[in-house]
Amino acid sequence: MRFATTAIHAGQPPDPATGAIMTPVYLTSTFVQQAPGVHKGYDYARTNHPTRAALEKNVAALESAEHGLCFASGLAAETALIATLKSGDHVVCGRDVYGGTYRLFTKVFESFGVDFTFVNIHHLDELRKALKKSTRIVWLESPSNPLLTITDLAEASRLAHERGAKVVVDNTFATPYLQQPLALGADVVVHSTTKYLGGHSDVVGGAIATNDKNLYERLKFLQNAMGGVPGPLDCFLVLRGTKTLAVRMRQHCENARRIAAFLREHRDVKQVFYPGLPSHPGHETAKRQMRDFGGMISLELHGGTERNIAFTSKTKIFALAESLGGVESLVGHPITMTHASIPKEERQRGGLPDALVRLSVGLEDVEDLIEDLSHAIAATG
Ligand SMILES: *Cc1c(COP(=O)(O)O)cnc(C)c1O
Repeated sequence: MRFATTAIHAGQPPDPATGAIMTPVYLTSTFVQQAPGVHKGYDYARTNHPTRAALEKNVAALESAEHGLCFASGLAAETALIATLKSGDHVVCGRDVYGGTYRLFTKVFESFGVDFTFVNIHHLDELRKALKKSTRIVWLESPSNPLLTITDLAEASRLAHERGAKVVVDNTFATPYLQQPLALGADVVVHSTTKYLGGHSDVVGGAIATNDKNLYERLKFLQNAMGGVPGPLDCFLVLRGTKTLAVRMRQHCENARRIAAFLREHRDVKQVFYPGLPSHPGHETAKRQMRDFGGMISLELHGGTERNIAFTSKTKIFALAESLGGVESLVGHPITMTHASIPKEERQRGGLPDALVRLSVGLEDVEDLIEDLSHAIAATG
């Protein structure tokens, strides 16, 4: 089956009890057993849950993976992944990643003795130099957050595998509709389903997909042992979201392409970061490994940080808010919002400008979005 069909049907046959076409939201914490240990595959809702199982199958199918696991948030999924490591293990991580990922690694797991090196991972020689004997995981985002850098996933996977490390790709920005990291050589995909998979800014969730059976079994154990599971209604909302993922992503990409072109031509705009622009250094790689270029754009207006910050509160349709990937357009200032937990020196090493503004381009009429940006630029000029 092709992507859009899989998205609507995988993991969701009509309910055998009633014929309901939508997966039921099983609001139950426990399941009656016929005899001790004899049951229908469900005993306690943290361990296994039917609405969650439907979503786990769905997410696995979207990533063309054997196995899927869902969590209470993207960060809960990331926590389970790093909890597969032990003290002394080493992780090479892209420097341009979600601020909460950086915070989790440096402020939580470093104190357990896991060792992290942050590099500009899209420059593959930086990755090569950072790999050590003790490296277990190479962790990256492509496109990255918020600079939209592109890493060659096949080449990064080859380098990591030569040294015996596994590759984790945070595929939140691209979504499996645009990019399938496992097919390119990565070992694990992680998602914040809060974003495009949910798609409607009404739920927080996370997911992992992999073909690695041993790793899956360990993660399944950790999901139950550590307990960061999503509730049944949350799973239902993400399942409803993925049904329209293909059609939404096409429109996100189309709107973003138009907006990137508008910004690039605007004389008040100093820089536009969008992998769909032929001038983007990762454009050719993105063209090879992605179906299209996504709905996220970063930019910097001429006139310094103050003007850029002022701009983020002058838009009327683009709402000033954290998060991304919903039907509504959002604007944010990463260094005071999503990436506030990254120290200034670290941001500078990654080339993240203090003035940078990030757009999550939604599904409104693109003419309205362009007018909104145009007015907001003029209002700060
Ligand atoms: C939001 C986000 C996360 C964290 O996910 P939560 O669901 O907020 O815990 C991780 N990675 C990326 C790229 C994100 O945008």
